[in-house]
Amino acid sequence: MFDKILIANRGEIALRILRACKEMGIATVAVHSLVDRNLKHVRLADESVCIGPNPSSQSYLNIPALISAMEITDAVAAHPGYGFLAENADFAEQVQKSGFTFIGPDPDVIRLMGDKVSAIAAMKKAGVPTVPGSDGPLPDNSERCLEIGEKVGYPVIIKAAAGGGGRGMRVVERAEDLINAISVTKSEAQAAFGDGTVYLEKFLQNPRHVEIQVMSDGQGNAIHLGDRDCSLQRRHQKVLEEAPAPGIPDEVRRQVHDSCVQACIDIGYRGAGTFEFLYEDERFYFIEMNTRIQVEHPVTEMVTGVDLIKEQIRVCAGEKLSLKQEDIVIRGHAFECRINAEDPQTFFPSPGKVNNFHMPGGLGVRVDSHLYSGYTVPPNYDSMIAKLITHAEDRETALARMRVALSELVVDGIKTNIPLQEELVRDEAFAKGGVNIHYLEKKLGL
Ligand code: ADP
Repeated sequence: MFDKILIANRGEIALRILRACKEMGIATVAVHSLVDRNLKHVRLADESVCIGPNPSSQSYLNIPALISAMEITDAVAAHPGYGFLAENADFAEQVQKSGFTFIGPDPDVIRLMGDKVSAIAAMKKAGVPTVPGSDGPLPDNSERCLEIGEKVGYPVIIKAAAGGGGRGMRVVERAEDLINAISVTKSEAQAAFGDGTVYLEKFLQNPRHVEIQVMSDGQGNAIHLGDRDCSLQRRHQKVLEEAPAPGIPDEVRRQVHDSCVQACIDIGYRGAGTFEFLYEDERFYFIEMNTRIQVEHPVTEMVTGVDLIKEQIRVCAGEKLSLKQEDIVIRGHAFECRINAEDPQTFFPSPGKVNNFHMPGGLGVRVDSHLYSGYTVPPNYDSMIAKLITHAEDRETALARMRVALSELVVDGIKTNIPLQEELVRDEAFAKGGVNIHYLEKKLGL
């Protein structure tokens, strides 16, 4: 096992990783920007290194500074968390080339899955269901493109192979708009990602977002840990998640779970990963794989009882997967509300000093947060300040528990989206289960 891990992240996920390391008896190195010196995990880590000024481009995304921090502190592995460099193959490669371990899959696998065209091809090969589409990049030939559009059927969506974060996509309703949409998306993709490759997919009208959690050791062993529904989104940002995804027939679910496990083995995947799908009319359609731990991993931890971060560290240290598929039993239901420092109406970020922070508690209530009374939320990074998670024997009880937990949560001094979350957990359609990805924006009148 690793002696010392450098945590290449900040906020709640850095704290989450630190807690796992401490339980495992692994020493920790926290890195931070200037403004982040008072982060909770920085205070709790064995060592800390300031890696640069506040802009993330000069600190959390600064690969040479991170490698130097590893060298100075004798850390042997880097945990990237999510966001920042978590899916950056160059970072993973630099870490490896410097003689350290990247806690994640091989750089080649990150690259394979980072390019959506190659990811879809790999998934198809493994038997994972994909969205009907161009099966590869769109050719530089208008007639061919129109033929593909016709065959797939409108509406279609043009997507950048290198796209991410909800950018580089364009929906096309009619054949006469196709060629123009392709050329605009191509030039946008070229400018934003340095790669103008685009492909085409059938645009699904009212899908849900359902994703499958996997863990794999890169030594031929892989398991899934069930699914999550993350359909409540605003501008492609998840707001409230749950596990398992409600109302999916057992056989449909089993097939997609098995195909994800097979895909992990096929691509030699190592670590924690998520296969993201759109789900419509009892069918799954693969859209992308996240080659890292995700924000919403706690709901899976609550229903499986598996510590995903610890397992991820173990398999990336070269250990064989300690769990077999039959060890994974889904117990009850879990919800996660993302608490953001933002105006609940306008969604503008609301950084500033938290005068008073009071966490809810009780059976089946979990709070993953780096906040403490007196902490100042800086304006420089993501606005998520806490994740409130509840677990119970069934969905209804877990949701009732979330209502109680939200009513106890106090974050004084800054604006938060707690009022929005309180509304969502009282929403009738959401309580029934199975709302689609447009539901929240429609409810908000967007
Ligand atoms: P990104 O990597 O930018 O997040 P994704 O491929 O995951 O891109 O797609 C982001 C979102 O765009 C999806 O969650 C969904 O809301 C929408 N989307 C993507 N592909 C389709 C599709 N074929 N049909 C309908 N909606 C889609």
